[in-house]
Amino acid sequence: MGVKILIVEDEPAIAELIAINLSHAGFEVERAFQADQALQMMKEAMPELLILDWMLPGKSGVQFAKELRINPKTIGLPILMLTAKGEEADKVLGLDAGADDYVTKPFSPKELIARVKALLRRQLPPTDDAPLIVGPLSLDPVTHRLMAMMPNLDPQSIALGPTEFRLLHFLMSNPERVHSRSALLDRVWGNEVYIEERTVDVHIKRLRAALAPAKCDNTIETVRGSGYRVTKNPL
Ligand code: CA
Repeated sequence: MGVKILIVEDEPAIAELIAINLSHAGFEVERAFQADQALQMMKEAMPELLILDWMLPGKSGVQFAKELRINPKTIGLPILMLTAKGEEADKVLGLDAGADDYVTKPFSPKELIARVKALLRRQLPPTDDAPLIVGPLSLDPVTHRLMAMMPNLDPQSIALGPTEFRLLHFLMSNPERVHSRSALLDRVWGNEVYIEERTVDVHIKRLRAALAPAKCDNTIETVRGSGYRVTKNPL
């Protein structure tokens, strides 16, 4: 299962062109023709990135982007805006509305894919981020320290390998959300093409093994058929 991208574009030919190119690049593509439909689809399954046309029937792309940015569930969703408007003022308006990047029609599919990939890469956890706390886990990206604080147990320092640390950092940056293996590969490993999805399972296993002595390995949940997540309320 690839990284899921939702295209919101009312012009079928353009939507088709984008969809074909994204599929060829290995992405999983869904399409909506307007904002309401997109919102409905997002309630069922959240995409990893939204490609949003500026001019849509009904609610405009700009208005939709603004609404997504004030919704806690979609505040972190990367948005790439598409438009025929190439004016600098329009670009600023689009970015102000909450888009993360902007592609002007007509665009080359190659450029679009490059922008999509760059945007997904930017979602990588920053290395100088603030400490993260999810349930009993407390992670400091600066000092590369992980502490576990379970009720009735002394706080424990947990040592992790660099990949496990990056993996946990990413999961804790996006807690409760399920990430597919391919999404994790993309975000944690970057664009190393030769890595298999099974690699993710290996590192998840190592991560759980490292957390087990502190009795918090169950904060890393396997979501059958979907992927993994970190949760503060393990089942
Ligand atoms: Ca349009």
